[in-house]
Amino acid sequence: MRSAVLLIYTGGTIGMKTDAATGALVPFDFNHIYEEFPALRELDVDIEILPFEPIDSSNASPELWVRLAEIIARYYDSFDGFVVLHGTDTMSYTSSALSFMLHNLDKPVVFTGSQIPIGVLRTDGRENLITAIEIAAAKDAKGRAEVPEVSLYFQNRLFRANRTTKWSAEELNAFASRNYPPLAEVGVNIQYNQKYVRRPKAGAEFGICTSLVSDVAVIKIFPGLTESVFRAMLSSGVRGVVLETYGAGNAPTKEWFLGALREAICRGVCVMNVTQCADGEVNMDIYETGVALQEIGVISGRDMTTEAATAKMMYVLATESGPKRIAAKLKKNLCGEIGG
Ligand code: ASP
Repeated sequence: MRSAVLLIYTGGTIGMKTDAATGALVPFDFNHIYEEFPALRELDVDIEILPFEPIDSSNASPELWVRLAEIIARYYDSFDGFVVLHGTDTMSYTSSALSFMLHNLDKPVVFTGSQIPIGVLRTDGRENLITAIEIAAAKDAKGRAEVPEVSLYFQNRLFRANRTTKWSAEELNAFASRNYPPLAEVGVNIQYNQKYVRRPKAGAEFGICTSLVSDVAVIKIFPGLTESVFRAMLSSGVRGVVLETYGAGNAPTKEWFLGALREAICRGVCVMNVTQCADGEVNMDIYETGVALQEIGVISGRDMTTEAATAKMMYVLATESGPKRIAAKLKKNLCGEIGG
């Protein structure tokens, strides 16, 4: 039986084409995708298109995440899979957030986009779009979805979305998942790496969570950070902080730095430590600079990306109460975003 896929278009470079009169890049009407891109008809998939008013993903926000979760929930029973076309700049944030907001997912939700507009001859969007649809529609021999996860497809590789980062503004191979292997690799055939794919517990019912607390700050430390600037970043109103530290989770041991963090944690602010490095993980046991953070109650984000840690902080603050329970949930592997 043919699979049915809902294609949700939110904006970004993939939806642009060159205006013949002016030569400028303009968004094209996704309702006319088949005219732009007749090869789509050749796929053995029923595709329905749901275009949003296109945005550059620099303007994406938790409101967009909630809207996507609600749409996927509304159409969950009518489709075998979902493809979300999204600007590349914040695709890892949106897709990470969806991985926390969609519970017991047993259908693929594949995010993709492109570095070159789809209406430009040398586009990477065509391959990304076609393969993302194929993956969203793919079933194994038992008729189950091959990858029932929120994933991100780009340049021949399918990643677990909450493990990705946009690492290149130039290369077509724009996304990396340094701490987790690809879920599928695409050459002549699509090779699924089933041993890395997560599946929901048998019988668990799909549901969504649309509560998020966005009073969260991402603070990247750097040599020269001053006390007044750091205190301003931790000022009232912030409920969660993703602290991007050096190497294996190290930060200054200066008293003003630790004091400001300690005060924030005593006020109830949750602080989670992730590394500025592209791969590897936070281990606050190794150096004095990490041990000091652990002692004042900073939570290890281990090998989580900043994108996943930010979305997880917003999700956990909205769904758990009390510092102990919040810390326990932040440390827990909720949907494959953290090792172990
Ligand atoms: N600025 C664009 C966006 O993120 C870039 C892209 O789509 O690649 O919407």
